[in-house]
Amino acid sequence: MNTTVLQVRGLAKHFGGVRALDGVDFDVPAGQCVALIGPNGAGKSTCFACLAGQQVPTSGDVLWQGQSLLGKPPAERQRLGVARTFQVAQTFEALTVLQNIQLVLRSDQLLAWWDRLDRRQSERALQLVAQAGLQAQAHASVADLPYGAKKRLELAMALAGLSATGPSLLLLDEPAAGLALAERADMMALVRQLATQGVTVLYTEHNMDAVFGVADRVLVLIQGRLVADGKPEAVAQDPQVRERYLGF
Ligand code: ADP
Ligand code: MG
Repeated sequence: MNTTVLQVRGLAKHFGGVRALDGVDFDVPAGQCVALIGPNGAGKSTCFACLAGQQVPTSGDVLWQGQSLLGKPPAERQRLGVARTFQVAQTFEALTVLQNIQLVLRSDQLLAWWDRLDRRQSERALQLVAQAGLQAQAHASVADLPYGAKKRLELAMALAGLSATGPSLLLLDEPAAGLALAERADMMALVRQLATQGVTVLYTEHNMDAVFGVADRVLVLIQGRLVADGKPEAVAQDPQVRERYLGF
């Protein structure tokens, strides 16, 4: 049994009268690939924002390797090993693919220093470009990329922000959203591959199909509450999930 790296405890987030998260509890062991699924408005993105630091929870706690992340800004959480992507890819359109990744690797330096980036970091950037399947577009302007490639770039940028050693958690908010069928398959294969390489992965998805063959485990969130937790096949058969989420 792998050690638990993430503990979510009584997590709640209210926006006025809207209970986006209403007391969510779950643990994630190191290296597991977990899908957080649920219909639109279930609270998936809000959950990620509380885990990665874009939102402050109303109550509850988020523990990473036993340490509370509350009060820590996103950049610090990233240094500790927790990185995320967004439902709508956040990349720098004016830069090339390689420069987008370099920017995260050397975020403390100015754009004018591109030429002096040292060899080791360029190698890491090239490695990440290859991992995301973007070799052919490494020097293309991001504005010219198909959306699927942009989403894979954003994922590579999240990886670039993590230290190469120590446990890491990648939070992917609807990695396949807005992608064409072939792009979707590439993206989900990449997600699965990351988990195989030992990165702990938590991704959201509103389509049940995207969990089979990818997620080791599925959490079902409906109206801010977890209603199921188990292997994809078992969750798909759960009567409550069928009735409240799948609609049959
Ligand atoms: P999901 O990602 O599962 O579609 P969200 O987490 O985006 O769901 O939204 C959950 C609920 O919280 C929705 O009712 C949404 O309108 C509300 N919500 C999300 N973010 C905000 C915000 N910044 N301000 C007000 N309400 C929000
Ligand atoms: Mg969302």
